[in-house]
Amino acid sequence: MIPECPRSSETRTPIRCQGADLTQTRSGLLSEIKTPIKTEPFNEHYSLIPGKELGRGKFAVVKKYVEKQTGKEYAAKFMRKRRKGQDCRLEIIHEIAVLELATASPWVINLHQVYETANEMILVLEYAAGGEIFHQCVAEREEAFREADVKRLMRQILEGVAFLHRSSVVHLDLKPQNILLTSEDPLGDIKIVDFGLSRMVSSSQELREIMGTPEYVAPEILNYEPISTATDMWSIGVLAYVMLTGTSPFLGDDKQETFLNISQINISYTEEELEGLEPSAIQFMKSLLIKEPQARATAEACLQHPWLQQPTEGKEERKEATEGEPNSPASPPPRRRKRRRRKAS
Ligand code: ADP
Ligand code: MG
Repeated sequence: MIPECPRSSETRTPIRCQGADLTQTRSGLLSEIKTPIKTEPFNEHYSLIPGKELGRGKFAVVKKYVEKQTGKEYAAKFMRKRRKGQDCRLEIIHEIAVLELATASPWVINLHQVYETANEMILVLEYAAGGEIFHQCVAEREEAFREADVKRLMRQILEGVAFLHRSSVVHLDLKPQNILLTSEDPLGDIKIVDFGLSRMVSSSQELREIMGTPEYVAPEILNYEPISTATDMWSIGVLAYVMLTGTSPFLGDDKQETFLNISQINISYTEEELEGLEPSAIQFMKSLLIKEPQARATAEACLQHPWLQQPTEGKEERKEATEGEPNSPASPPPRRRKRRRRKAS
């Protein structure tokens, strides 16, 4: 989800972040980038790989390209500079600045180059060939994640988010569509994408009112209370639930019902889909889906959680789902993932 541009004119406040001076605007946007902005024709240097678009949002479309000089594949994110009649170039610059800041994390997508045309900016990103983890989240049986997969991927997500939080960045739109994979089969590593809603958080300035995707937003967002790194941790709790069960814990019939479920923490830990999970997996989610942001586990604390410390109890190799007789004792059946009424979306 892409925010509308900030309306007020910005004043700049220099803040210190991981030893570097970063110029930050009042609304938590960074305004300086190091990547040179190229203005020569994009198509002179990149050829479109025909086929389906990689993704599309309200103001962005992502397509696969090959760099002519190197033959390497990239994902080009084309972003409109004007949205709803407002100039959003500064928001795009912020997205670029955050990607630059996160270069050192292997779990955040790499930015290769930036192009600008009259109406668009083009972010040339490392190509994540495995697509969104969303597909495995809603997949049936053989393709769905095993608990062991979720643990490994969740550790990577948490390491990426811990890196961002140490750098005072909150993502604010963590969901299965914004967590990509380097490869699908064999299951690769994760890459966090889409910093369109991300903001810098600092102790001196309060940030409120940034609305992510309904199913994943924290109660403080709905109550117009201050946003913090804990806001992302709520979304990670929802993400864990969706990755483990394929169902969305707060999703209602409409937005209103979803928001009501979130603000009342109307969640069930006794659903059929959760049967068979390690009890520590439930504790993990419970340590995040807490109304009070201060009481939620941090990303660093989550990495120390018992659920992520223990190796998963044997048998859960992904391959086994497609090999051997489903009920043979040598190859126990993988946990069945029945759909509840509402799939994650
Ligand atoms: P939006 O702000 O429109 O949500 P995203 O950055 O999330 O934009 O990109 C939209 C979709 O495009 C993603 O959900 C994903 O499916 C696809 N996509 C984005 N970046 C990449 C990438 N680097 N490699 C492969 N697919 C990508
Ligand atoms: Mg997105």
